[in-house]
Amino acid sequence: MTSQPLHIRPLEDWWPAAGKPRLISGPCSAETRQQVVETALRLKATGTVHMLRAGLWKPRTRPDSFEGVGEQGIAWMLEAREATGLPIITEVATAQHAAICISRGIDALWIGARTTVNPFSVQELADALRGVDIPVFVKNPVNADLQLWIGAIERFNRAGITRLAAMHRGFSYYGQTIYRNKPMWEIPIALQTQFPELPIFCDPSHICGRRDLLAHVAQRALDLGMAGLMLESHITPDEAWSDAAQQVTPERLREMIGALSVRRPGADSAPQTNELKLLREKIDRIDKQLVELLGERMNLAAEVGEYKQLHNLQVLQVERWKEIVATRSALAAELGLSKQFIAHYLEHIHKESIRRQSAVMSEGNTGNLRNPSDKGLTT
Ligand code: PEP
Ligand code: MN
Repeated sequence: MTSQPLHIRPLEDWWPAAGKPRLISGPCSAETRQQVVETALRLKATGTVHMLRAGLWKPRTRPDSFEGVGEQGIAWMLEAREATGLPIITEVATAQHAAICISRGIDALWIGARTTVNPFSVQELADALRGVDIPVFVKNPVNADLQLWIGAIERFNRAGITRLAAMHRGFSYYGQTIYRNKPMWEIPIALQTQFPELPIFCDPSHICGRRDLLAHVAQRALDLGMAGLMLESHITPDEAWSDAAQQVTPERLREMIGALSVRRPGADSAPQTNELKLLREKIDRIDKQLVELLGERMNLAAEVGEYKQLHNLQVLQVERWKEIVATRSALAAELGLSKQFIAHYLEHIHKESIRRQSAVMSEGNTGNLRNPSDKGLTT
């Protein structure tokens, strides 16, 4: 589906931030007045944080979990803003949450992953915000569906929200993964490619679900040129009422942010421009060769199909395929290619070869029915 361009105000215009990366931090949930205010003061003292987050209404999987302090936490957040000067952001999931936040002067809103999945909820929120133009950060949906994410962003934009950003928090995944939510970086990259004007933030806390992976994911986000980070922090993380395993103290956060490398966005005026150009030219050439080789390989697979058709052999020859996997994997290992990568590559090659061979053979069969002599299979 083709999309209309978004009408987005550049981030620098509405959120000038000293220092990089732009950082939103604060507890997963507001728990007590003291916890919110103290977290804010300690975050402010780090000198690295630009906005204070705290969840008031918490979307929890099971009904007996802590579901947030609700509206009463707004006063604590306002007090924290007063004490630190940091703008405040919270999650809204219903039109009522949005109305409360607007009337109480919350500075920015985020839309949670469980809300983005539902176009009815998103539209209801967009309608509730029509004419307000408060900054909105739209988290990706829980499932790996780029169109659903785009749809939510479009709904807010069409309701007049122009201070708009996406937030990547990883995707629910059924297989094995070290992450709480698998990053699937290709999805935010595809979003950025389609909408270069849209700022994309990364939320390593909800991707990782555990402290030890945060720095790595945060660095990856910066390397991809993401606009900023959201990281959960807590004065006593182990005692947090929600998401304890992924929260860090404000002081640990400062250390982590201090260790990140912020790369330059482009290399156009950089001294290494020529070197980079040369490397890219080499890559372009290799990609062209790879595609040509794939074309050649598939043509050969089709010829094998013709042979099998002629000699009445079945398409799938298990022993031959095992040998291909073994020899190619051994070579790949020698060259330092990952096992998983080569396994994926071979799987795709195999699927396409079988498709090409089967196509040749079924063409041969119908051809034989129509006119056995005009398929040229005897040569
Ligand atoms: C959160 O930010 O606390 C939260 C609930 O996030 P998500 O919607 O990404 O799970
Ligand atoms: Mn959380």
